[in-house]
Amino acid sequence: MNKTAFENVFYWEGKAQIPQEGKFIKLREDKTLEVPENPIIPFIEGDGIGPEITQAMLLIVNTAVEKTYNGSRKIYWVELLAGDKAEEKTRERLPQETLDLLKESIVGIKGPLGTPVGKGVRSINSALRRAFDYYSAVRPVYWMGQPTPIPNPERVNVVVFRENTDDVYAGIEFFSGSEEAKKAREFLIKEMGAKEEGFPEDVGITVKPMSEFKTKRHVRKALRYALENNRKVVAVIGKGNIMKATEGAFINWAFEVADEPEFKGRVITDPEAEPREGQVKLVKVITDQMLMQLVLKPEAYDVIIAQNLNGDYVSDLAAALIGGPGFVPSGNIGDGYALFESTHGTAWDIAGKGIANPLSLTLSGAMMLEYLGWKEAAEKIYDAVRRTLDSRIGTPDIANGFRKQEIEAKEVGTMEFAREIASRIE
Ligand code: ATP
Repeated sequence: MNKTAFENVFYWEGKAQIPQEGKFIKLREDKTLEVPENPIIPFIEGDGIGPEITQAMLLIVNTAVEKTYNGSRKIYWVELLAGDKAEEKTRERLPQETLDLLKESIVGIKGPLGTPVGKGVRSINSALRRAFDYYSAVRPVYWMGQPTPIPNPERVNVVVFRENTDDVYAGIEFFSGSEEAKKAREFLIKEMGAKEEGFPEDVGITVKPMSEFKTKRHVRKALRYALENNRKVVAVIGKGNIMKATEGAFINWAFEVADEPEFKGRVITDPEAEPREGQVKLVKVITDQMLMQLVLKPEAYDVIIAQNLNGDYVSDLAAALIGGPGFVPSGNIGDGYALFESTHGTAWDIAGKGIANPLSLTLSGAMMLEYLGWKEAAEKIYDAVRRTLDSRIGTPDIANGFRKQEIEAKEVGTMEFAREIASRIE
């Protein structure tokens, strides 16, 4: 596709091109970031619609940084390869160079990456998660004016913190009828006191590990976020009444974190108390209750702390309320290391047509700016996106959504939409 000429975007040419003018972000000992005025930020275009939405994101983020800081701050974007493009150019889906430079750069952004089905290829997303221990998947869900399936979508403004490394995703599974399932069943009945009626001979078993260490670091991240961003009500969810050793323990560990010196007095846990200035309130909510509350009373919660599986359900439901994953940004965040990404997939059916909605990746770019501490530039993006949607301009998915609600809308392609947004950044 035709690349827009950005003088601060350095595409891969035989290898990653590191510009002289850019500087790497540093990670301090306490895992906070030291961000230079001219940071090197790697980007991975991704597969399918990835290249198109990346162009749009680059235009909008560049414009916001330029308008906010008048040249005193500038991002130096460096393309890294992963996925189909990497395979084509280097025969590897996740080259070592990409891993090395993501490590050196600390913070990066990526479009969607597909996993070829049935080729025995491991998911790049999970390889990256493992390599950088991005232990919290953070999804802020808020409404910007797009068509939605519910009335009053402005009531939804919640940040879901999904634990990213634990839970049933561990992949320890024994299929019904297998030798392993038979062995595990016998062990559980003979050694661990499991009742036979719960374990008929034909059971399949999935193991759900949950660690205190992993839970607590995740909870700390969410509580710090709530305190720093003045978000008042933080809910930790789970089916603690059923899965006491895992989801129940997760909830208990969350309350133990609230009692740690860093949070004592700042995180209140009395369900009757109102948080004062500088305080947040931690409450526990059963997962099914939370799913209902999100639909009926979404304004009740500012931050949700969830395990990996529950976090998946909750963030998808929350996203659906405001119009779908195409409007939701996402950050995978660990101890300083962070990778921001679109929440939707590769959407091959519309790839190359120039009609993909670039908002998920663009808002992920804004979230990244906030993470760098460049909040003013992020605000400009939010404001411009809101004003563009208020003008009823959007890619076909957005325009169709408006039309379904009998609202007239102007349908534009991906880059024209990006230019409309960029032109509203003041
Ligand atoms: P993957 O296999 O990578 O998960 P997918 O295409 O199966 O990708 P989604 O990305 O969730 O899964 O897309 C489902 C459908 O939603 C797509 O086929 C496409 O029609 C639509 N879609 C997804 N993302 C966008 C977008 N950014 N803009 C417009 N339509 C989109």
